[in-house]
Amino acid sequence: MKKIFIETYGCQMNVADSELVAGIITDTNHQITDDINSADVIIFNTCSVRQHAEDRVLGRIANESSRKKNKPGLKIGVIGCMAQRLGETLLNNKAIDFVVGVDQYSTLPDIIDNLDEHDHYFTEVNNSEIYEGLYPIRQNQLNAFVTIMRGCNNFCSYCIVPYTRGRERSRPLPEIIREISDAGNKGFKDITLLGQNVNSYKWQDYSFPELLKEANSIDSIRRIRFVTSHPKDLSDKLIDTMASSDKVCEHIHLAMQSGDDDVLKRMNRGYSAEHYYNLTEKLRAEMPEIAITTDIIAGFPGETENQFLNTYRYMEMIEFDYAFTFKYSPRTGTKAADFINQIPEEIRLERLQRLIELQEKITLKKYQEQIGKIKEIYVEGISKKSEDEVSGKSRDFKITVFPGDKTLIGSFVKVKITDATGWTLRGERTDIA
Ligand code: SF4
Repeated sequence: MKKIFIETYGCQMNVADSELVAGIITDTNHQITDDINSADVIIFNTCSVRQHAEDRVLGRIANESSRKKNKPGLKIGVIGCMAQRLGETLLNNKAIDFVVGVDQYSTLPDIIDNLDEHDHYFTEVNNSEIYEGLYPIRQNQLNAFVTIMRGCNNFCSYCIVPYTRGRERSRPLPEIIREISDAGNKGFKDITLLGQNVNSYKWQDYSFPELLKEANSIDSIRRIRFVTSHPKDLSDKLIDTMASSDKVCEHIHLAMQSGDDDVLKRMNRGYSAEHYYNLTEKLRAEMPEIAITTDIIAGFPGETENQFLNTYRYMEMIEFDYAFTFKYSPRTGTKAADFINQIPEEIRLERLQRLIELQEKITLKKYQEQIGKIKEIYVEGISKKSEDEVSGKSRDFKITVFPGDKTLIGSFVKVKITDATGWTLRGERTDIA
């Protein structure tokens, strides 16, 4: 029996994969530890979305490999997107003992049992791998993330994911429903359905709206969320299903990326800015309280000042509750990295700064519009700033802080919003008799 420590980088998909890996490893009599000092094996679950993500984890690996001096039997492994992208070449790094790609996690127990023999790498792509019948060990105590599909077929020109996570494949609906109800029975009341592009879920005759309907009929849970949605696959049927399903929360993360049609075309996003705008109108018509959040890239190759201003104007018109804004960073292996008209770093940074300043004003306005409203809050913990306060999330995914103690953690309470700063609402309970 070996003790395994898993360190996770990157997106929610990777967090869910680390929980799946914990399940796979624990099923074979090895033990997951959260104490790196007692580990026999350290696994880094890595991200490749930007060069910085890879450099950071390679730095960590170099640091932790010094432990081998005092613990010669200690082994270090790399899994996740960087393992998939760099494969066997990672074994040139003497600190690394094994490399396992995103479709090969079932091989981990065998690798761990035979680590003393020689270095291992398994990064074969398997576009049908969905880890059927294998279930995660959840680290989070309150929110459960349930992977519904793996891979992505969209090939946005700036994105490495389709090259590291392979083609789209959906898990069988009965397995997903079983995993959600099990999680609900174990006390997880807030469920997030995960995929690179959940809107294109397809299993037999079931598409994503059908899956949402099925999940909505599970009694053991209270809230359903999903991430990530792609605008080209957001159908009227899905919007109707969201509006008519009481457990589906009034929040959607819908990556716009740019507000200029020419830039969207060169990003290979598959929709126009006007189409995106109309989607936000439809969502708000059906769910007036819905929060819409997004991702925006500033300084995509070839982006002119006017094209940038088109993005700026759409952000002013749509007024997202918040937006993750990024400066474009070329990713080796993606089409856009080879586009000739790369924008100088200082212009990318300057445009990013303008988006950040704009969005900060809009977010504050959107949060202040919540003052006076009564919201249902799922209490997640003691507030970071005060022992006498607790913090939790509203259905529209806003962090809310109010007076309370740890006995409230895991419960749903009604809170009247009395104040708002950038990303936090403040309030007082209204449901105390
Ligand atoms: S939809 Fe586009 S950005 Fe998202 S994972 Fe797929 S290729 Fe990447």
